[in-house]
Amino acid sequence: MVRYRVLFTADLQNLTNLQPADGVDSPTFAYYFKMKCGNCGEPAKKEISVLSNVKTSRSRNAPNLFMKCKLCERRGSMNVVTTDTGKPLTEELSAIGESAPLMELDCKGFDPVELVFGNGWKAKSIAGTKFLDINLSNGEFSEYDEMGKCPVAIYNLRVTFEVLMSEYREYMLARSIRIWDWHRDWHAVAKANKKETGVYSYFPRIVRY
Ligand SMILES: [Zn+2]
Repeated sequence: MVRYRVLFTADLQNLTNLQPADGVDSPTFAYYFKMKCGNCGEPAKKEISVLSNVKTSRSRNAPNLFMKCKLCERRGSMNVVTTDTGKPLTEELSAIGESAPLMELDCKGFDPVELVFGNGWKAKSIAGTKFLDINLSNGEFSEYDEMGKCPVAIYNLRVTFEVLMSEYREYMLARSIRIWDWHRDWHAVAKANKKETGVYSYFPRIVRY
């Protein structure tokens, strides 16, 4: 399993706090992703939509979605993590070219390639006007803020996927726990042997008289 942090940024003109209309970390906001197979690299033709509150079964650890590669038939799953993972994109971040985290993704067997923007976004103009139904499906948005008497716009949307936890790291972690367990067992046996033979050794045959 690989955990990704999904980060986004855009050029904001007289706007700030760009985020999903229900707010960041909303479990009801559907995100659309383009994925590719982690085995053969085949990109999925259709984008998939994931909602963090829709699970494949009632079990607590059930993923939000199962996937299967059409080419090599590899199966995989995906989970959207939206608890305390997102932050709105502010004008300050945008101005220095920094990104805001949107959510985290747990992916098994598949990797995200692209986040597809749609409608249902909101932002606030620097004059305080709220724009509550921003459609980003064309990759940009522009309007005129009557109250602030200035044009507002969003363009140059960019998304990056940052790897947080990879299969390799998970494997190494599990391995070090196993080594630690093994070492503890070894120590317990050696201690028992010392009681019996006076020698601190894992091998019980070394007995000194
Ligand atoms: Zn494949």
